[in-house]
Amino acid sequence: MRLSKSFFTTLRETPTDAEVVSHQLLVRGGFIRRVATGTYSYLPLGWRVMTKIMQIVKDEMAKSDAEELMLPILHPAELWQESGRWNVYGKELMRMKDRFDREYCLAPTAEEVITDLVRKEVNSYKQLPLNLYQIQNKYRDERRPRFGLMRSREFLMKDGYSFDCDEAGLEVTYQKMYQAYCNIFSRCGMNYRPVEADNGAIGGSKSHEFMALATSGEAEVVYCQKCDYAANVEQAISMRTENESSDTWLALKKVNTENNKTIDEVARFLQIKPSKLIKSLIYKTNTDEFIAVLLRGDREVNEVKLINIIGCLEVSLAEEQDIVKLIGTNIGFIGPLGMKNIKVYCDFEIVEMKNAVAGANEFQTHLINVNYGRDFSADYICDLRLVGEGDSCPNCGEPLTIARGIEVGQVFKLGTKYSESLNANYLDDKGVSHPMLMGCYGIGIGRTMAATIEQNSDEKGIIWPITIAPYQIIIVPVNIKDTEIMNHAENIYSKLNIAGVEAVLDDRDERAGVKFADADLIGYPLRLTVGKKTLTDGTVDLKIRNTGEEIVLALDDIVSIIDKKIAELLRGSDCLE
Ligand code: ATP
Ligand code: MG
Repeated sequence: MRLSKSFFTTLRETPTDAEVVSHQLLVRGGFIRRVATGTYSYLPLGWRVMTKIMQIVKDEMAKSDAEELMLPILHPAELWQESGRWNVYGKELMRMKDRFDREYCLAPTAEEVITDLVRKEVNSYKQLPLNLYQIQNKYRDERRPRFGLMRSREFLMKDGYSFDCDEAGLEVTYQKMYQAYCNIFSRCGMNYRPVEADNGAIGGSKSHEFMALATSGEAEVVYCQKCDYAANVEQAISMRTENESSDTWLALKKVNTENNKTIDEVARFLQIKPSKLIKSLIYKTNTDEFIAVLLRGDREVNEVKLINIIGCLEVSLAEEQDIVKLIGTNIGFIGPLGMKNIKVYCDFEIVEMKNAVAGANEFQTHLINVNYGRDFSADYICDLRLVGEGDSCPNCGEPLTIARGIEVGQVFKLGTKYSESLNANYLDDKGVSHPMLMGCYGIGIGRTMAATIEQNSDEKGIIWPITIAPYQIIIVPVNIKDTEIMNHAENIYSKLNIAGVEAVLDDRDERAGVKFADADLIGYPLRLTVGKKTLTDGTVDLKIRNTGEEIVLALDDIVSIIDKKIAELLRGSDCLE
């Protein structure tokens, strides 16, 4: 590609709406342009990277016997009603009507459509297993579209769906997909971790997320440095603390705590640690039910665990006026004693606490020496808290570490959730009908591109892993008006093309400094400079973007040495067969 003919513009200034580095560099480097909130055009450079990621995906899918197909984006409401998701998917689902008033949605995912296809075509165990995927746009009306391609409203997703006869077959397919995902992210040069995950709205029994480790990540992951335990913080199991002391129960007492409401204020006022307090929270579910949650003062509620335990779709903290009506007191003085007409969900740790402090359900009053069993009880005792740094690993007991991550992919065992609701059945060898066992497997192509940049950049720009770089090398003639320099540059360009190297020739009439700055911003793995030295000494300078290493090459050695360098970089990306 000759840059003089290429459709791209680089920007010196950071766009004001771009908060994270990948968004900034994708816009500055001329990879993407915003069209509307959460929708982007991919410019040729951006599309080349996307295409390379998709090619890696296709390659690994082919190796795992998954077959590519293409489903529509426009889905009829009837299929979503049949699965039961039309009413539960909420505002994220982009809904629309056609001219006849028939309802549709734009696909946020495609379990319904693929299950409908397979149920119509497959009826015998002889046709199973099947593993089908597409790479297609998805639509989600995200509450907060942001970070460029990381959380957009229209995005390219590889989504795959598997159909097996039984649990054992599904396990084999799941493991194959898990391994294929590891291969894909390794080949993209990513620093990632597969973590145990919550199944969320999709449902099912087992799931892993693939997390690109990055400080800008929206997700938190917990992992053990000793064993291989790793989980999304939403999913991470909290270990039950041992009985904290052998203290005997003291007499319950009321104290005036004045206007101290928060855990920290009350702890300071009573000169105790926050861990001696019982935090009492009132939540409202999506079906307008109120529930109380009790946990240790220094802990946070894991709302995902809470949702799963209640079996609802959403929870949010109740408004003060609802609490006053329900409990008869204000936020800050709520406590577990005498709570009526409301189900109480209590974290495991509360049961172990001795002589704790809790709200008295009276204005400006707390109770001291509160003990579970003697003073109050709960409807449910369960694991409700978020795991924190230093908590014990549920596998080996070592302290856990917390890191931030970007979810780039996820694999789920769906089981029979969709095959049952949509009647996707097959006949076994005795003619008995069974629901198929399904799995689903997703990768965000654009999010993967963005996450790679979050992990690979410096103050000058992007540092692409060679496997997904838009081009492998850029040739920079320092002055295009010098015909001798240009002749050499053209000659090298054509030799590299013939050798199958993906090369760009910067034949723009720009100063060398501008060209170098653009090359660093765009992040080509290799840069070859053709200048005066080429004419006097017959050499060119090769610069390696990720190490900064500079090598002087004789003109005759260019192709062989560049081939060697590319092979080295490929090996470094863990991606040669
Ligand atoms: P998140 O929790 O980040 O909203 P999700 O768990 O809802 O994502 P999945 O349904 O698992 O997403 O979708 C599969 C993949 O699609 C994700 O792993 C991610 O890479 C990508 N993806 C999901 N939502 C978006 C989005 N709004 N923008 C870009 N990519 C997305
Ligand atoms: Mg997910």
